[in-house]
Amino acid sequence: MKFIADRTLGKLAKGLRMLGYDTLYYRGEDIHQLIHLARQEDRIILTRNTKLALRRPKDRIITISEDHPSCQLKEVVQKGTLSLGKEKPYTRCLLCNDPIDAIPREEAEGKVPDFIFSQQRDFYRCPKCRRIYWQGSHLENMQKKIEELF
Ligand SMILES: [Zn+2]
Repeated sequence: MKFIADRTLGKLAKGLRMLGYDTLYYRGEDIHQLIHLARQEDRIILTRNTKLALRRPKDRIITISEDHPSCQLKEVVQKGTLSLGKEKPYTRCLLCNDPIDAIPREEAEGKVPDFIFSQQRDFYRCPKCRRIYWQGSHLENMQKKIEELF
């Protein structure tokens, strides 16, 4: 399941990437291009535009009515009938949407804070922006959040 989020839903796009979903964030204002991209790449459209689903009954559109990002994520989980277990959390760069790769531990040395390096065994890197990820304490909190979502 892949998504494309419209310009009003940047935080939701990040949340879905955190869960491991391939999610494009479309910053433009051209609704036709958004729909074109969605069709081309077989993506479900996420939008706050309540009229879009009425005007485009044949496209797969989830209309988001919640304001708070974590409530929006819950809304997608419910309306899109996503289920825990199929998701691969923390496998995708939150900024680029690219899948992140496991890297040898020594490659992370000097590029992450020393205390993180000494605590963590596994590191990952985004091939595009080179940002390094690890399963730190903030991710454990995220894990709790994810469990709450489902
Ligand atoms: Zn990246």
